Amino acid sequence: MFNLFALGAVILAAGCNASPTHHLAATPQTADLTTNQTMKFPVTKTDEAWRKELTPEQYRVLRQANTERPFTGLYWNTQEPGVYRCAACGQVLFTSKDKFDSGCGWPGFSDLASSKAVILRDDYSLGMHRIEVLCAHCGSHLGHVFDDGPKPTGLHYCINSAALNFEKNNPSALRSDATGAPELKPEGKR
Ligand SMILES: [Zn+2]
Repeated sequence: MFNLFALGAVILAAGCNASPTHHLAATPQTADLTTNQTMKFPVTKTDEAWRKELTPEQYRVLRQANTERPFTGLYWNTQEPGVYRCAACGQVLFTSKDKFDSGCGWPGFSDLASSKAVILRDDYSLGMHRIEVLCAHCGSHLGHVFDDGPKPTGLHYCINSAALNFEKNNPSALRSDATGAPELKPEGKR
């Protein structure tokens, strides 16, 4: 009994929003996505080239679709203004204005920097259905998207830190972005 309870607690803590009860309609932008090998991307490199260019951790995540351990990556808790680029090809994927604290231990974003930044496809690994997020530029694995994100999108892009490179905004660029109130809120402060 106790073991069962403990197991449940572990699953809750570790699974976070990756619960199989969350169903998000898959909206793959290409019809016949089965493997990375069958997809064509603007940036293509041999496996050997990726292995040389990326750190072992980046390679495991980006090219082998592994998931980093929660609360271990560089960016799960960052709040500074800037952009997040694909660590493999440099394409801008997310911006800090859409980042939120998912409580999961991975960087969470409620929207993309551009609607064409990623490709989505069904992922049935680990005995559940999830929507995998791939870089549309190089096909690298980034993470998954769930439907428990904040409004207005309701989306939660749960992305590995190892798949991202953060680039801080420089202050002069920030000042010229006069679109109104700053969108970054100090969440969690009471
Ligand atoms: Zn990429």
